[in-house]
Amino acid sequence: MTKIWAILVLLFLVPCATAQQSLDAMVDKEIAWLLETYRMLHSSPELSHREEKSSAFLANQLRTLGYTVTERIGKYERSDWAGYGVIAVMKNGPGPTVLVRSDMDALPVEEKTGLPYASKLRTKNDAGVEVGVMHACGHDVHMTSLLGTAKMLAQLKDRWSGTLILVGQPAEETIDGARALLRDGLYTKVPQPDFAVALHDTPDFAAGTVAYIPGFALASSTSVDIKIRGVGGHGSRPDSTKDPIVLAAQVILALQTIVSRENSPFDPAVVTVGSIHGGVKHNIIPDEVNLQLTVRAYKEEVRQRLLASIERITKAIAVAAGVPADRAPIVKVSETEVTTATYNDPALTDRVAQALTKEVGQANVFKADPIMASEDFGYFGLDRKIPTTMFMLGASDPEKLRVAKASGTTMPSLHSPLFAPIPEPTLRTGVRAMTAVVLELMKKK
Ligand SMILES: [Zn+2]
Ligand SMILES: [Zn+2]
Repeated sequence: MTKIWAILVLLFLVPCATAQQSLDAMVDKEIAWLLETYRMLHSSPELSHREEKSSAFLANQLRTLGYTVTERIGKYERSDWAGYGVIAVMKNGPGPTVLVRSDMDALPVEEKTGLPYASKLRTKNDAGVEVGVMHACGHDVHMTSLLGTAKMLAQLKDRWSGTLILVGQPAEETIDGARALLRDGLYTKVPQPDFAVALHDTPDFAAGTVAYIPGFALASSTSVDIKIRGVGGHGSRPDSTKDPIVLAAQVILALQTIVSRENSPFDPAVVTVGSIHGGVKHNIIPDEVNLQLTVRAYKEEVRQRLLASIERITKAIAVAAGVPADRAPIVKVSETEVTTATYNDPALTDRVAQALTKEVGQANVFKADPIMASEDFGYFGLDRKIPTTMFMLGASDPEKLRVAKASGTTMPSLHSPLFAPIPEPTLRTGVRAMTAVVLELMKKK
């Protein structure tokens, strides 16, 4: 009897002993699993709207860890795209509801890192063009960190109380995944959270460090398509045409004056022409030229002004060139490739920063500047009704980053075919950081 009681007492004490362990020591036990998971995910990336295997993997793992999992969430405007969203819930008594999000999609980039676990996958994109596929934004780091965090929190149930929601979000790169989840009734399937948090890796900071950005952190992004229509003809007879190639050149240069001459220097803004296509042959003046633009801003009124200026300038240049009214340029502002600015709730960000500092140390946590990249994570906050924050996870080899900085160069950026986060310290810090943040937000009173 005594022996049995001793065993029972011991069994009872084991979870308490676990609770006393440092997160770092707990991650130590899981590091082989985390690295293996990361390498597997890295070598099998999937494009936006096609995250079938990644989401199934995430769902299975989370289920095994004891979460209640729902799969295939998400409704897009295009009915032929399936929603591959994953939601995993762990209810653990009374307390706040916290949502942690990881994105899952990869990019049409051919990997050139030469790493042993590099992606060799190729696929056809939506336009039918064959492309390489790569986790060039580190969403594999995010998924692995989410799984690690899920495992830690399942083991540490005696240290938190409330409802934890983990989200595997599809289609972040096309910025329509978060909205697809909400359109499919995310907050009717799970309780509306009190807080939503996420992390994003970055090659700009050393692995082992994390950064927070209070207030506006990432810009809004709007895709714009411009069709410049002219009157085509023989390359030797420009006088009988309205040359859309020359018009496009004028438009591109004139658009540069929006930010430099029309916009307040105190309002960050970007107008980039990322694509120009027109013509097929040396001696043919084509009928039209197509431009693709991305427009970035923090404030909505700035965004509206930029879009109005793009339309005004483009149309006026066509008028100045004598293009007939029925061939006026068509300026189309995308309704789907658009996302609002990411605003990190200052009070929540402050709490997160304190939790991060406590876990990974003052020397490894700092406040970073906002950037003009974009994210659709902000949608989970329902127009700032729910406080949200995203912190940055350093992913570069500290020594390589030091050498790059000393020589005035930068590490390969996100979306680069050479982007290569250093897995071990990055994942370890990602799991520790996110677990510490959730424990802070859900700590037992
Ligand atoms: Zn990206
Ligand atoms: Zn990303």
